Amino acid sequence: MDRRESSSVRGNKVVVIGGGVAGSLLAKSLQFHSHVTLIDPKEYFEMPWGSLRAKVEPSFGERMMINHREYLTNAHIVISNATNITKTQVITDDGRQIDYDYLVIATGHADSFPKRKTERLDQFRQEFDKIKSAKSILIIGGGPTGVELAGEIASDFPSKKVTLVHKGPRLLDFIGPKAADKTLSWLKSKKVDVKLEQSVNLSAIKEGSKEYQTSLGEKIEADCHFLCTSRNSGSAWLEKTELKNELDVLGRLKVDQYLRVCGRPNIFAIGDISDVPEIKQGFCAQKQATLVVRNLKVLIEGGKEGSMGTYTPLPPVAIVSLGRKEAVAQLPGLTVIGRVPGLIKSGDLFVGKTRKQMGV
Ligand SMILES: Cc1cc2nc3c(=O)[nH]c(=O)nc-3n(C[C@H](O)[C@H](O)[C@H](O)COP(=O)(O)OP(=O)(O)OC[C@H]3O[C@@H](n4cnc5c(N)ncnc54)[C@H](O)[C@@H]3O)c2cc1C
Repeated sequence: MDRRESSSVRGNKVVVIGGGVAGSLLAKSLQFHSHVTLIDPKEYFEMPWGSLRAKVEPSFGERMMINHREYLTNAHIVISNATNITKTQVITDDGRQIDYDYLVIATGHADSFPKRKTERLDQFRQEFDKIKSAKSILIIGGGPTGVELAGEIASDFPSKKVTLVHKGPRLLDFIGPKAADKTLSWLKSKKVDVKLEQSVNLSAIKEGSKEYQTSLGEKIEADCHFLCTSRNSGSAWLEKTELKNELDVLGRLKVDQYLRVCGRPNIFAIGDISDVPEIKQGFCAQKQATLVVRNLKVLIEGGKEGSMGTYTPLPPVAIVSLGRKEAVAQLPGLTVIGRVPGLIKSGDLFVGKTRKQMGV
């Protein structure tokens, strides 16, 4: 009996949409096993957890970005956005129709980053100049991005006046209140002025003005600002596709235990775009990618569905860096702040580890 009879008979064309944390690792791991095509609007993979260090040390950006071609030596790379899918093809913004036997959707976030790495490095340099030349800086948003940026600036430029405005009642609302309280105390110890339960209406600011007003009417003087509010989910394009009914209310693709989109035997979703109930983090995205590599190999080799591995959501563990040496960590049953968690993340921000994982 043809072993492929157990699953529907398909070839080995795997199309991966999204060259971020999950999609890049999956494409790299599968490139010598299948005919892999990676679709991403930019020419490089960026480690999001390094992007705030790159604003205070632009050369850090060099190591936290890897051109797709560097780690994908045996795959086809399409630099474009996916705009639609059919049962057999992905349609891209530049009009291509790319055949697939298996599709992996990994469009976690649709940040509008430039196409080329050199342009992205220029952005980091401009942001560095902005920070360096400012005496006072306003950060809007107290999630991980706003907190990590405040930590980087407070550590590297302690004489600058930093104000952080957050609309929620506590910082870091993706993890527990203990971590939020410890982080608030740490920021205060570094003279960061944290204003909770307030927002800033940027459209009300006059051109060239250095005066910002919060929703409670407080005035903040700042030479520049950084907007660190939630990033756009990478699912808007899916709302116009045949997968629109597979999106949940948060715009995430509903997946089964094998990380296949529910009811779609040859379409997987991994990383922040999947509705797996866990904190949306890179190490979870990598674990999902690794499982789907295994499952795709099973299916491509004609194995039975039951031979695929199932995904177990990870516990709510997170580390938020606070400058170059310290961090706050939420671990199972324990929340710690200071140099010990900082030793795990804050020096290199997992960049060396990730580069090694990508084989560069
Ligand atoms: C400041 C910050 C710090 C973080 N720190 C950590 C940390 O310490 N540890 C940790 O584990 N996680 C951390 N995270 C979270 C982690 O970065 C995300 O969970 C991870 O990036 C999710 O990976 P992903 O592949 O699902 O999505 P992403 O990495 O967002 O990649 C999505 C990719 O899809 C592409 N894309 C979007 N739309 C389309 C389209 N229509 N067609 C083609 N391509 C498309 C994008 O260009 C992008 O390349 C941090 C995040 C941030 C922002």
